[in-house]
Amino acid sequence: MTTAQPQIKGRFTTATIIKRFDFTREHFKLWLKPAEPLSFQPGQYCTIGSGGIERPYSIVSSPREPLLELFVELVPPPVGQLTPLLHNLRVGDTVTMRPRPKGIFVLKPEFKNHVMVATVTGVAPFVSMIRHWLESPSGHPMFAVLEGASYMDELGYDDELLALAAKHSNIKFVGTCSRPQDPKNVGWKGEVGRVNALVEKYVAQWGFKPEETCIYACGNPQMIEDVKARYANSGFHFEEERFWKDD
Ligand SMILES: Cc1cc2nc3c(=O)[nH]c(=O)nc-3n(C[C@H](O)[C@H](O)[C@H](O)COP(=O)(O)OP(=O)(O)OC[C@H]3O[C@@H](n4cnc5c(N)ncnc54)[C@H](O)[C@@H]3O)c2cc1C
Repeated sequence: MTTAQPQIKGRFTTATIIKRFDFTREHFKLWLKPAEPLSFQPGQYCTIGSGGIERPYSIVSSPREPLLELFVELVPPPVGQLTPLLHNLRVGDTVTMRPRPKGIFVLKPEFKNHVMVATVTGVAPFVSMIRHWLESPSGHPMFAVLEGASYMDELGYDDELLALAAKHSNIKFVGTCSRPQDPKNVGWKGEVGRVNALVEKYVAQWGFKPEETCIYACGNPQMIEDVKARYANSGFHFEEERFWKDD
């Protein structure tokens, strides 16, 4: 007896994997070439699928880049459904793709300071926003990315963001590891502890005023809840993108 594969309903197109980079056993980047041109705003997500299962993924690349870049974390089976399938894909394989990226988690240009708080893959939309701004800078925004992970090798874009921070006075990056004693974090010289516990310290240190500042939080729902609670009734504007529902 064969098990029926779930069928994707509605209009979809495909995308081919052009490049893949695995940087831990569970974290990988994919560069996709969509069969149809895709237009999106930095911060939006695309919906891809395989084996009849679809999930949203925030886009890392800027709209002007020729390939669509994604940062994916494997959720091992039996919990994860799509990511074990994506993890098995190789260059040349295809995924299904919904033709229109979506989402309202985009840069709020009315603010001067953009505090971007992420857990691991939650950094994706922020990288897209910053790359996009760098391609055609306008105004004087301040981008401050705070990214947390259990292990230093999961941060994914710390090299790029640190290099940008060294070159541009309006870009800041703080990486933090929540398990500093773990042998996998030997040599880590950055912050330690959970990223949500560090936001207030850095916002105060940078002197960001509430009325000029938008705090964005993306990724783990518990991190988002905590940052949101810390800034409730504070005058700071708050935006969020939860990657999954809290149990
Ligand atoms: C708007 C949006 C953007 C997203 N962008 C990304 C992205 O850029 N990169 C990315 O990897 N994922 C992203 N996700 C999550 C993604 O859609 C999938 O849920 C995830 O890849 C797991 O898929 P799955 O089918 O293997 O497991 P699912 O069936 O989707 O999830 C099963 C369970 O795994 C847990 N879970 C899901 N994701 C994670 C995770 N990253 N870490 C730990 N536990 C998790 C949750 O408890 C969830 O209920 C995004 C989600 C949303 C809503």
